[in-house]
Amino acid sequence: MSKQQKVTETKICRLCGEPKPIDLFEKDSRSKGGRTNRCKSCKQASNNVAYKAFCRFKERYPDVPIETTKEEVAQIFEAFEGRCAYCNVEESDETGTFHLEHIRPLSREGGRHHVSNLVISCRRCNARKNNKPLAIFFRDYLPFSYDSLRFIVEYIAYFSGRTTAEVEQELIRDADQWESERKERTEKARTIVENGQIPTASGE
Ligand SMILES: [Zn+2]
Ligand SMILES: [Zn+2]
Repeated sequence: MSKQQKVTETKICRLCGEPKPIDLFEKDSRSKGGRTNRCKSCKQASNNVAYKAFCRFKERYPDVPIETTKEEVAQIFEAFEGRCAYCNVEESDETGTFHLEHIRPLSREGGRHHVSNLVISCRRCNARKNNKPLAIFFRDYLPFSYDSLRFIVEYIAYFSGRTTAEVEQELIRDADQWESERKERTEKARTIVENGQIPTASGE
């Protein structure tokens, strides 16, 4: 061969799927092969998405204390590789813009805007989960896989400095509380029906 061929090591980007020279992936000692899974331009794009999500939240909930930094929000997007934490889809025109999602809803006790309580989710999952505890949502919502649940548990443990067993116990406690609230409501409804006290449409 007359031409000297320079062999450049390439790697396939997890996000755009394109093979790119290894230099276009940041060094990361925690990753296999010592480089990140996504190329620099994809990483930059996802940081922008994270930054926008961070700002959107601030605008929408001016009264909720912000206990998380822009950098942490970028880390959340990085940890989930830009995919919905529950159903694992990627952001697209079809799924709409992804949201920062509170694992424990802000409306419930202990629900904070803190990195240990935040994941990213697609609109559909965000709407379906609403104010349900994580374990109840997992039980009832089939696109939410066991692998996704396990990853979220590890993620919460990491960012809250607890063990996965402690996190699991808390999730079960939340689910039990939710169930007993539902049971109470069912009992109340039963009493009303049995006593013939169904309120009329006129609101009597
Ligand atoms: Zn890429
Ligand atoms: Zn989803």
